[in-house]
Amino acid sequence: MERKFVLHFPPTLIDKPIISELVRKYDLQFNILKAYITPEEEGNLVLALKGEEKNLDKAVNELEKIGVKVQFLKAEVKMIEEKCIHCTVCIPLCPTSAIYYEKESLSVKFDPEKCIACGMCIKACPTKAMVLTI
Ligand code: SF4
Ligand code: SF4
Repeated sequence: MERKFVLHFPPTLIDKPIISELVRKYDLQFNILKAYITPEEEGNLVLALKGEEKNLDKAVNELEKIGVKVQFLKAEVKMIEEKCIHCTVCIPLCPTSAIYYEKESLSVKFDPEKCIACGMCIKACPTKAMVLTI
């Protein structure tokens, strides 16, 4: 199974190889969707972790134990393709490049695997083609 999280690392943990160790220990696969540091020097990582459910639970427990704040991303965003007019307004707003322009089909595409449900495209879309499903 796959779960998406936002992880908040305190400044003391920013430079530690926590995720790579966790991935090895619990046989997980990871995909970093976004990484940034706040002005308060808190490290934030939006990532998808894939693996067995019990291993994902153990990994989350371990993160919380060492002081990482774990926020689950439950909401999902969907593109209603019939409503999209391919205006491209949403593309530069998407922080993870989940929405992109496909030259071959001359159309705007959506990759739900990369979406972190930030809602930027939903606010900007003139035709309400991007919607929250949960
Ligand atoms: S909600 Fe929209 S803007 Fe935000 S990551 Fe998903 S596709 Fe990109
Ligand atoms: S803003 Fe809406 S209509 Fe325009 S490309 Fe994005 S999803 Fe399609």
